[in-house]
Amino acid sequence: MDLHLKDKVYIVTGGSKGIGESISRSIADEGGNVVIASRSKDETRDLVEEFRQKGIRSHGIIGDLQNTAVCKKVIDETVAVFGGINGIVNNAGLNDGASLEAGPEAFRRSLNVNLHHYYDLVHFALPYLKKAKGAIVNISSKVAITGQGGTSGYAAAKGAQLALTREWAAELLPYSIRVNAILPAEVMTPLYRKWLDTFPNPDAKEADIISKIPFEKRMTTSEEIAAMAVFLLSEVSSHTTGQFMIVDGGYVHLDRSLK
Ligand code: NAP
Repeated sequence: MDLHLKDKVYIVTGGSKGIGESISRSIADEGGNVVIASRSKDETRDLVEEFRQKGIRSHGIIGDLQNTAVCKKVIDETVAVFGGINGIVNNAGLNDGASLEAGPEAFRRSLNVNLHHYYDLVHFALPYLKKAKGAIVNISSKVAITGQGGTSGYAAAKGAQLALTREWAAELLPYSIRVNAILPAEVMTPLYRKWLDTFPNPDAKEADIISKIPFEKRMTTSEEIAAMAVFLLSEVSSHTTGQFMIVDGGYVHLDRSLK
């Protein structure tokens, strides 16, 4: 199936590591131009270089998206290099464990690292998305609907991303801009590895989590999240908007007693 991403321009935040890297690779595989906006300098430089060597037009913008000026720069530079924007994948974020106990400052910091740039990027990209009848994909998390404990900031940000998905889908109807969210649950990425390693016995913790994933008793791969992302970016999903796609091997919804 041709997803018709060829020569179109997609921004992927946090697009050189973990889930974001897989999304960037999947867009590139479909012939799309990828703009990676991330603070991971080396990984972004290497991936952009790899794409260029394969003849894929790509551009990296290094910066911390918590800074609104960096978000504006991402949009301005993308338009300067490629002439327009067909889609944005809001993906950069981290589960920082800003708990109820951690206090107001930690909570605010968490919203800043996880939420505000989702809004800022779409705000600055709006004229270009309108012109292109573009698509927005927000990477949220199962935590938005299940909770996790000990992570108020992240949970609030991930929940807000779902609310914004519906809100933007409604506001952008007149422009044929589609807005959807993906909720991963358990995907092995550098971030996830770091989290697992905080447990006294990471292997046992990993095995315990995997034993509770109904479909094939395995974690979701970042490629499986990316497949949903490129589908949602593409014209193939031309009547899908305001949706929450839970790509998790049935982790959140299937009967707990399933073996
Ligand atoms: P990852 O491996 O840490 O990759 C995320 C990338 O985004 C990193 O390069 C990171 O840079 C970058 N980034 C984070 N905050 C940024 C900022 N403010 N400005 C610029 N770059 C920033 O994480 P991942 O596991 O792939 O997670 C990607 C998304 O999926 C996140 O929104 C996460 O909440 C969501 N998610 C993941 C899982 C999972 O199981 N992995 C489950 C549910 C939801 P640094 O390395 O410098 O932080």
